Amino acid sequence: MNNLLKGSLVVGGVAAAGALWRAARPASLRRYEPWERAPYANFPNKVLIVGGGFAGYAAAKRLCGLTKGRDDIGVMVVNRENFMTFWPMATGIISSDMDMKNIAQPLRRNLIRFGASFRWAELECVDLGRRFVVAGGQEIPYDHLVLALGAQPAYFGIPGVEEHSISMSSIADAERIRNRVIQRYEEVTLDPVRASNSKLTFVVIGGGATGVGAASKIWSLVHRTLEPDFPNIDPQRVRIILIDSNKEILRELDPTLRRAARLQFAERRVEVLNEVRAREVTADRVILGDGREIETENVVWTAGGRASVKLEDLGLPYDERKGLTVDACMRVEGHDNVWGIGDCAANVDENGNPVPPNAQAAVQEGEAVAENILASIDGGKRLSPLRYRPVGHLVDVGKGFAVNEVMGVKFSGTLASLVWRGTYLFGLESPQSRTRGAIDWFLDVFSHSTVTEVPDR
Ligand SMILES: Cc1cc2nc3c(=O)[nH]c(=O)nc-3n(C[C@H](O)[C@H](O)[C@H](O)COP(=O)(O)OP(=O)(O)OC[C@H]3O[C@@H](n4cnc5c(N)ncnc54)[C@H](O)[C@@H]3O)c2cc1C
Repeated sequence: MNNLLKGSLVVGGVAAAGALWRAARPASLRRYEPWERAPYANFPNKVLIVGGGFAGYAAAKRLCGLTKGRDDIGVMVVNRENFMTFWPMATGIISSDMDMKNIAQPLRRNLIRFGASFRWAELECVDLGRRFVVAGGQEIPYDHLVLALGAQPAYFGIPGVEEHSISMSSIADAERIRNRVIQRYEEVTLDPVRASNSKLTFVVIGGGATGVGAASKIWSLVHRTLEPDFPNIDPQRVRIILIDSNKEILRELDPTLRRAARLQFAERRVEVLNEVRAREVTADRVILGDGREIETENVVWTAGGRASVKLEDLGLPYDERKGLTVDACMRVEGHDNVWGIGDCAANVDENGNPVPPNAQAAVQEGEAVAENILASIDGGKRLSPLRYRPVGHLVDVGKGFAVNEVMGVKFSGTLASLVWRGTYLFGLESPQSRTRGAIDWFLDVFSHSTVTEVPDR
């Protein structure tokens, strides 16, 4: 049998098995969905979740799980994208470790399978008296409203930051960073002698997990992917600089892990400047608080976040930086049927301690709010305060190195990197993304990815 025939048989067999598996899957995954039945929304307990990120998605999933078989409760998620951004792996887009398709987790399919409804629309306003929101030009009524709008970058009024830097606030931003680096290489390769070094200087402002992730992925893109393809550019000209106003980067981690991360950066010639702030950013430089200037045409901003600016329009109590003012059961102050979760709410745990804005907290808040909403609908049960249980921190430093602290156990290096990868890979909701992500990482061990920029036209 020749190779072509053998290959065709294998491919045909796999395709046939796939078709059989799809056909044999139970069609009854869809449970009763009150929002989808005419007349529209004519049922007693309409739970409307605005924001389909970590918090909103977890709330919908848990509530659907708790109310299987009940047709008196309908759950709908409204989100301005039709996917959920899996933030912890988003910096992987910069180095092409991760395809953006794996980071954008499909919302509609997953939610419909749980039994929730989904509308791809942007929240415009809320009528708290008449209990409806306007999203995508439509009035959507609710009995319980969950606000899970997330956060957005804060620039603290520093001149030029918003205009001249790229923040990490969307998948498109991660792609813009990658494309910027590629474009700079292409520009310099045309005339390496006369090209300014500012084109090859990449400054990341903010030394938290996102800034460390961004700097390490720029390093991977530059030194593992681009360097071999641009033989006329001297790698020694490239500078990657991480600026942080704190005494040390990754201050949420144990000092031993901070040192391990810093050592990794030192070995790779990633410069770390601590205890200094950016005072101004212009098109060709960053001016630091101590007067130093860094010539650069490439700045990434990860140094600050604030609750969604949309809160300003909703007529609900909130703090600009921390978010909606909520009680320990996640109810917005003064409103029994409006709940705030995730990065857009100033949640506290059962002891009154503030809960940090991260993915694990958002998921726990989503699950807990689902239970409280059900308790509230069914009456008779007391609402429970949020019991936040931090699992730990996992930070990828790139090049197969991570620094982790899981339930008090601190470890770093290759094993930590595998734990980081495994944890987040299994955190992806879509099985296709999990498989594709695993294959991408496996292939990356043997060959470094190539990158191209496809113009958006
Ligand atoms: C680059 C990056 C890396 C991170 N890495 C980690 C990490 O490694 N570990 C970790 O624990 N945390 C990490 N985080 C933080 C974590 O992702 C957030 O804490 C978490 O996503 C908060 O969940 P959320 O549901 O509140 O917000 P999000 O997940 O951001 O979801 C908010 C949703 O609301 C939608 N929305 C906003 N406004 C509207 C509107 N007007 N109408 C309709 N929909 C709207 C948005 O589109 C979004 O889908 C990272 C964050 C970033 C930005």
